[in-house]
Parts: sequence; structure tokens; C-alpha cells
Amino acid sequence: MNDYIIGVNLPDSTGLPQLEEVLRRYVTDGFNACEINLSTFPMIIGGEIKPIVVDYVKEILSRYPLRYTAHAGYGLDLRNVEELEMHRAVLFSSVDVCAALGIELLNLHYEVQSQYTDREKAFFDAHREAAEYAMVQGVKLSVENIEVEIAQKTADFVRAVNHPNLGMTLDLGHLYLSAKHFGYDYLETVKECAPLLSHLHINDNTGDFEMMRLTNFDLYKTMDRNYRFAFGRGDIHVPPFWGKAPLKEAISIIRKAGYRGFWLCEYYNQSFVPFNREVQERVRREIENV
Ligand SMILES: [Zn+2]
Repeated sequence: MNDYIIGVNLPDSTGLPQLEEVLRRYVTDGFNACEINLSTFPMIIGGEIKPIVVDYVKEILSRYPLRYTAHAGYGLDLRNVEELEMHRAVLFSSVDVCAALGIELLNLHYEVQSQYTDREKAFFDAHREAAEYAMVQGVKLSVENIEVEIAQKTADFVRAVNHPNLGMTLDLGHLYLSAKHFGYDYLETVKECAPLLSHLHINDNTGDFEMMRLTNFDLYKTMDRNYRFAFGRGDIHVPPFWGKAPLKEAISIIRKAGYRGFWLCEYYNQSFVPFNREVQERVRREIENV
């Protein structure tokens, strides 16, 4: 019985030759869904969809009894008014890729609110138009809170766009870091966001905010992952219940609010292969036991 759709994210280091074995392992580990970062494979080149690659991926995805969601590829910045045409092209092509692959939902990052009206307007307009465009193709859009910003701003944005095809992704790990860093209540925020949720990212960390994420993002990206695990530095995406975020309480609030979407475990699962089944079972148990 799979009443709850427990998903896991495909590592962005997965090459096309490994895709099949990774998906097979997820099925064996009891997952029901997989989230794919769209820049994992060269499915978009120069803002345009590459059908030969999309068809190749689609054939492999169709072999497994999994449902699929997508994460927008790296570098997408819909506040970049200097290169807006290209960023919008990548956004709309991302929707096309999802539709072609039978992916139900496209997750997009909110990032940090800027001080500039024109950038915020570009960001708003792109999401509103893409929500409409994606609805026709049967792809839901969902905007995710990032640890570098107050989560309520993502919720406010989703309410402002006010489109039936655009909801909020709550990332419980990002929320934990953000709530501690900016000083607001974690579980109150989960309660406030729960009615808006179209998607959920479940992952863990130690609650220690990594300042380098704000002061030097390029250097931050080069930090060794195992070093960051060991020292608990920032948004480390370890398996749910391996860190300190109050995930049990958050899951309880979200389930009681009537959430019906994916329960997507978003962690560096390639580092935890022998334990992935246990992670899936633990998350499922926590949801069922509410
Ligand atoms: Zn996330």
C-alpha cells in the first residue's frame, strides 16, 4: 500500500549511462517518485529544447513505476533583467521538457528578494505567465523557500501571484536554517505555509547557518561536501532525521493540514546508498503515524 508518495532526488552527477541503474535502485528501496534537476542532462541548449536527449531520457523514465517531478536547472535567475530573454527562454523550455517527459511538477527557487522594483516585476511576470503556460501542458509550478531568505516571503509571493497552477514548495531544511538565522518560529511558519503547499522537500541539517552562502557564493560552492557534513556547515541536505530539524512535528502539521502532494526526500542520497531504504521507511512511518 502506497498511500503516500515518497520521493527522492536524482543526484545531479548522474550521467545518462547511469540513469537506469539509479532509478532501479530507487524502486528497490521503495521510493514512489523521483525529482530530476533539469540541468542534470543536456535537454536544453541555449534556451532551446533538445528533443533527441529528451526522448532518450523519456524512454528510460518510462521503464520504472515512479512518478516524476523536476527541479529547475542551475543558474535560472528570473530577476536578471540584463539577460532576461535567455532566462525566460530556459524557464519556458523547462516547462516544455516537463510536459514531454510526463513530469507533473516543476520546482523553482524563490532565492532572495531584491531591492529593485524592475527585478521583482520581471520575476513576478515570468512566474505568472509560466504558470498559465504550464497549466495548459499539465505541469504544476511550485516555488521553494531558500535558507538565505525569510520563508514568509515565498508564501507572500505565491499569494500575490494568485494562480491556481502555482503553489509553494516548503523545504523543511531551508526553513530550519532560515528560522534560526533570521530569528522566527519554525513550526509557526510550517503552519502558516501548509495551506499553500503544492510540494515538499524533506531534508535535514544541524541548524548552523553558513555565512559564506551570503558573502561568497562561488567559494561556498567549492567547499567539500564531506567536510561540510562533518562540521555541519549550512544547507548540508543530509537524510531526514539525521540532523536536528524538528521534522516529526513539521510532518504532523503538514499532514493534518490535508497535504496531498509528494513527500520528496531531497538529500545527497549518493552518499547514503546503503541507508536509503531506511530513510524512505522512516519518512513513510512518520507520515503514517501522525
Ligand atoms: Zn529543496
